[in-house]
Amino acid sequence: MTAGFMSRCGGFPMSPEARRQKVRILGDGCAALSLAARADELTAHDIHLVRPDGAPPETDHIWGFWDAPGLKVASRMARAKWHRWSIVTEGGEALMLSATRPYAALHRRDWTGHCRDAAARGGVTIDTGGSAVDDADQIFDSRPPPVPGGLMLQHFLGLEVRSAHAVFDPSTAILMDFRVDQSRGMHFIYLLPFSATEALVESTLFTPSVCPDDFYHRAITGYLDKCYGLTDFETVRTERGVIPLGTLPRRDPAIPGIGGNGGAIRPSSGYAFPFIQKQIDLAIAAERSSGTLGFQVPHRKIDLWMDAVLLTVLRHWPERAPELFLRMGRALDGDEFARFLGGEADWPLRLKVVMAMPKWPFLRGLVRMLGGTSRRPVAEAA
Ligand SMILES: Cc1cc2nc3c(=O)[nH]c(=O)nc-3n(C[C@H](O)[C@H](O)[C@H](O)COP(=O)(O)OP(=O)(O)OC[C@H]3O[C@@H](n4cnc5c(N)ncnc54)[C@H](O)[C@@H]3O)c2cc1C
Repeated sequence: MTAGFMSRCGGFPMSPEARRQKVRILGDGCAALSLAARADELTAHDIHLVRPDGAPPETDHIWGFWDAPGLKVASRMARAKWHRWSIVTEGGEALMLSATRPYAALHRRDWTGHCRDAAARGGVTIDTGGSAVDDADQIFDSRPPPVPGGLMLQHFLGLEVRSAHAVFDPSTAILMDFRVDQSRGMHFIYLLPFSATEALVESTLFTPSVCPDDFYHRAITGYLDKCYGLTDFETVRTERGVIPLGTLPRRDPAIPGIGGNGGAIRPSSGYAFPFIQKQIDLAIAAERSSGTLGFQVPHRKIDLWMDAVLLTVLRHWPERAPELFLRMGRALDGDEFARFLGGEADWPLRLKVVMAMPKWPFLRGLVRMLGGTSRRPVAEAA
């Protein structure tokens, strides 16, 4: 990148009256493409994506999210939706239902394909290499942010499995099943049953360090055997990910961020897809009234603060995790749970969650957090 374009990042140079602002987005992932797909709503801006040098090849995976008014297009493209979902522990199960806010599973390649088509129709170009950013009025960076050492991570490996006989209940997505090895920290299975014979089964941990592949594989095969009596299955697809949980510095402090590099990842859950769409909705609405394009952290300060306390508890007392999530699942109905995880909680709902939690671990977590003995308070972000 040249010093020339760096000095123009995020600001408008004096521009002739009706000249369209040249906007360059570094990256061609979820956030960049989701924005590019809506170029027809940003007629004062001329949007180009730049696939950065060193960008890894795109791989498919599933985005899970709760249907919400701003997610209708994505929801229509989902491979599957569930109106029932559960949280399972050795001590019991919380089953939640929602008629209006199903949990949806969308293939990344379906969404990015849709976005690329819509972007092309809207006149967006996608360049490879960093050179095309030189003449930009504004630059936004969607490359992944750096992850400080010791940060809590959500890390997982998932297998899409196919069984010769019916074993799964396709009516109910299992968001968390804690009946797996808890020796490395908070660990659960996430199971999306696409049919009675096909499911995505992920071994997921919230800890500061990733595990060898073999650990997740053993967790999945052991779980399928123990809970479904399934030992003989075909692996159709594998997906893996490491999502940082917490406040992250921007990739380049001189370039405004978007997507995960713009604070869109929800620290307590790792969900980012719905928040990226929200971030773009807000940016387009603000551009309509101000003429300026910019991207804000799409979370409320109070939610980031509550996330920071929860993450502190999960880091220091991970053995409490199954109980905490079970209590939350039992206290909320499906709509409330979807709203809470989807970042749409109001004060009564937040209070309901707080009241459902055991107080002692959270008080201890708060003291740790305020005393600075936990890593980086998440609330710094907002
Ligand atoms: C496997 C997986 C599953 C996920 N599941 C969910 C889910 O179910 N629900 C949910 O809400 N969120 C989920 N997430 C989190 C989040 O939605 C995604 O990470 C999302 O893609 C973030 O969008 P983004 O545009 O910020 O980053 P990306 O989509 O990752 O785009 C980043 C851009 O930077 C480029 N880039 C990457 N590395 C480099 C590099 N080293 N140098 C230069 N360029 C680089 C990429 O090529 C891309 O162009 C998941 C993440 C992963 C990895």
